Amino acid sequence: MKGSAERNLNRLADLFFAPFCCSCGDRAADNTLPFCKDCIKDFQVSLVKECPECGCKRSGCSCEKSSNTVFLFYYHTKGEKRIILNLKQNPDKRTARFLGKLLSEKVKREKSVGFDCVTYVPRSPKNVRIHGGDQSKLIAAGVAEGLGIPLKSLLVRREKRASDQKLLDAVERRKNVKNTFFPAKEAADYRRVLLVDDVTTTGSTIDECGDILREAGVKQVVKAVLARTP
Ligand SMILES: [Zn+2]
Ligand SMILES: [Zn+2]
Repeated sequence: MKGSAERNLNRLADLFFAPFCCSCGDRAADNTLPFCKDCIKDFQVSLVKECPECGCKRSGCSCEKSSNTVFLFYYHTKGEKRIILNLKQNPDKRTARFLGKLLSEKVKREKSVGFDCVTYVPRSPKNVRIHGGDQSKLIAAGVAEGLGIPLKSLLVRREKRASDQKLLDAVERRKNVKNTFFPAKEAADYRRVLLVDDVTTTGSTIDECGDILREAGVKQVVKAVLARTP
C-alpha cells in the first residue's frame, strides 16, 4: 500500500516539477537537460554556427572581436530568441544554471584572467516582482559555480529607468543607463570582475555598467552574455 501511494505521489511531483524545455516548453529530454530532444539539436547547432551577420567562423568573427564580449550563441533564430525570452518570462533556476555553466566553460577557454568574482546587470525590482526572479543573477550564479568563484551584487538598479532605451539615440542611451545603475559600496573591493547579462543587443547597457564598475575602482571588467545580436 505504502509503495503505491508513494509512487502516486512521485508521479504527481513529477507532473508539477518535471523539467521543461527552455525553448519550446515541452517536457525536457531528461532531468539534467533543460531541452527536449528536438531543441537540443538546434541548440547544439547554435553553439557552433557561423556569425549570421558576417558569415565568419565564430572564433574569427570581427563582430565578436569588436564587441569584446564572451557569448554562447547569437540572438538570431526563433529558437535562440525563445530561450532568452522564456528565461525573462520565467527565470528558471535549472535552465539558468545549465546555460551559465556552459558560458563559464567558454569564458575559461577565451579569457585567461583570474577573476575575483562574478557580478551581473540586475533586473529592475518591478520586473523581479512580476516575473518572480532575476534571470541575469541566476545565469551569473551558474557562471560563478562553473568558475568556482563567488557571485556578488556589485550593481544596484533604480526602480525606474529615466526613459525608455528604445526611444533614445546612442549618446542618450548611455546617459540613461548611468542614471539607472550605480555601484554597490563593495565594488571597490574587487580588482577583476566578470560582468554577466542574459542578452546584449546594442551593448550599451552592459558596456555602461562595466564603466560604472571601473569608475567605482574595479581594475578590469570582462563581459559575458548568453546571447548577442549579430
Ligand atoms: Zn523543445
Ligand atoms: Zn560576425
